[in-house]
Formats: sequence, structure tokens, C-alpha cells
Amino acid sequence: MEIRIEKNMNPKVKPADASKLGFGKVFTDHMFVMEFDRENGWHDARIVPYGNISISPASTVLHYGAEIFEGMKAYRRPDGEIQLFRPMDNFDRMNDSADRLCLPRIDGEFCLKALKTLIDIDRDWVPSAEGASLYIRPFLFGNDPFLGVHTVNNATFIIILSPSGSYYKEGVNPVRIMIETEDVRAVRGGTGYAKCGGNYAASMRAGEKAEKKGFAQVLWLDGVERKYVEEVGSMNVMFKINGTVVTPKLTGSVLPGITRRSCIALLEKWGVPVEERLLSVDELAEAVKTGALEEAFGCGTAAVVSPIGELSVDDVPYVVNGGNIGELTQKLYDELTGIQWGKKEDAFGWTEKI
Ligand SMILES: *Cc1c(COP(=O)(O)O)cnc(C)c1O
Repeated sequence: MEIRIEKNMNPKVKPADASKLGFGKVFTDHMFVMEFDRENGWHDARIVPYGNISISPASTVLHYGAEIFEGMKAYRRPDGEIQLFRPMDNFDRMNDSADRLCLPRIDGEFCLKALKTLIDIDRDWVPSAEGASLYIRPFLFGNDPFLGVHTVNNATFIIILSPSGSYYKEGVNPVRIMIETEDVRAVRGGTGYAKCGGNYAASMRAGEKAEKKGFAQVLWLDGVERKYVEEVGSMNVMFKINGTVVTPKLTGSVLPGITRRSCIALLEKWGVPVEERLLSVDELAEAVKTGALEEAFGCGTAAVVSPIGELSVDDVPYVVNGGNIGELTQKLYDELTGIQWGKKEDAFGWTEKI
């Protein structure tokens, strides 16, 4: 499929100060769009000026939440070149999400080519400030112009790009998290392993509650027994207990994070024992109390690695590692960001230059 390119004749002024970018607020001059219908498959692939889109008020996505997305970044290397981090993993995961929501699958190779073409056109938008990156948001939604509930016949796929500042404006500081015992994010058999907008809509209330109480994130428990730890906020979570890194296994209600996968690969390379298993909140609370819990952190594309400094169990606060970032957490952060920004050797072949 050819990609039609329509250049933006009114390019925006790029923000001069990358430290003021924030996250997902500024967008580049172009976006990639393509449509799907059952008769023609994916078609009309185009790179066009970034701008509002028009959809029917009856569009499936507005009523039944038929939407999936991905989140990835383009990084500016010290030599000025631009690279992606494991991008095919994102498009493969998007197809797993598509299958779950009965949305049409995409051709990952084609989407990667489209993404590279789009970034190349907007390459001057990739920031070079410390910790800054070009956040990439591919998304796909059901777009039938009628209200019947059924598998969609029409869908739209879009990629937008947002230069974003460092996640850590004041350095990598450990956060306080609260165990959420009322709401659940996902259940086995549901959409927890899919990256779909609906999961986020359902997580807002707990997030708001945590924020009001002064916590940065919630620690989600499984939806059936409310017993096992699953994720923290919108990140996967890892705990170093007695020298072993324990992370919830992918039971179907946990999102298979690419950062999680990369952390596991690095830990195994370093000879650190890793266990992917069920971890009950009781076991975790016990490990906090006895001091067996040495380090805790969330991991995801946005923050890379986010240390947890305090864990609130039934309103009792427990401090992890004196509220400081753990040694292994710091090492993972340094190694991953080093590879992503092209400052360290990429022995795994995870990065791809544009
Ligand atoms: C995207 C996401 C993650 C992290 O995945 P990465 O591929 O590492 O960015 C973790 N949990 C949830 C719920 C997510 O949506």
C-alpha cells in the first residue's frame, strides 16, 4: 500500500524550552491515518497535517469504547540520530489487543514503515534535552456510523506524535502508593491484557481517590480474590524480596509490558533471580514488615522505571528502602535509559534507527 503524503503548509513554531513540554500536550505538524472496511481492508494510508478529525456521532467508539492504543517513544541519540525501542513489540501487542476487541488487525511491518516515514517528516520535533523524547501514540478504533452492537465493519488507525519532556523533572524520586481494595482494574477473561481505552476509563476513580489522599499511584489487586498484586497505576510492578525480583505473572489481567519484558531480560543477563508468579498482598505486607522487601518499582514506557518509596497497607504506611531508590532499581533505570537514548551498547538489538 502506498502512503500519500500531504505536507503541512503552516508548520507550527517548535517550543524552544523542552523542560516546559510536559507530557502529551504538544503535537507535531503531521499524523498518519488509514481506514478499514470489510470490503477493502486497510486503505487510504496517508500522512496529513495534524488536526481534528470528523466522525459520525453514532461512531462505535463513542458508544461502546471500541478503542485500542499503544505508547512508545523515539529517542534522540548523542550523535543526533533518532531511534526506536522494540517497536515491533508494540505493533504485535496492538494485534493481540485488536483480537480481544474484535477490531481489525494491522500489518505491523507496514505500520512500522509508516511510523518511520512520519517521524522522518517531523524529525526536527524529536527533542534532544536530557530525558526528553518524542512520545508516539498509535491508536485504532471502531468507526461504524450506526448504533447496533456487533463486530465493527469500519475502523480508523491513526498515529500522532508528541514531543514530551522528561518524566522526572526533579530527578528520579520514589513515590508513595496505596493498595486499592475496592475498585479493580481488570479481571481474568476481561480486557486486562489488552491496551484498550476502557481499562483506563475504569481506573480513573481509584486514581482520583489515591491522589486526594496524597498518593502518586494505586497498587491494583486481582479482580477475583482481591488478593494478588497485579500492577501499579498504568505500569507493571516488581519487588526485590530477599535478593529475588518477583513480578506478577501474566494471568490475563496484567498488561504484558515491553519495559517489564526488557527488565526481566536484563536481570537474567545480570544473574539476578527473577520469579514471575502470583504475589499476594499478605506476602508483600509481611515482606515489608520483616524487611525482606528490599526494593520496589513500577516499569513502563513513560517513566521507564519508577521507584516506590512507600506502600500503604490498610492505611498503615510502610517505607521501602528508607524511602530511597534501590541499587538494582537505579541500575535498571541507568541501563534501560542508556540503551534507549543510545548512550549504552545495545547488546540485545532492541533499538532501530530511523
Ligand atoms: C502500557 C501499559 C503498561 C506498560 O507497558 P510498556 O510496554 O512497558 O509501556 C503497563 N500497564 C498498563 C495497564 C499499560 O497500559
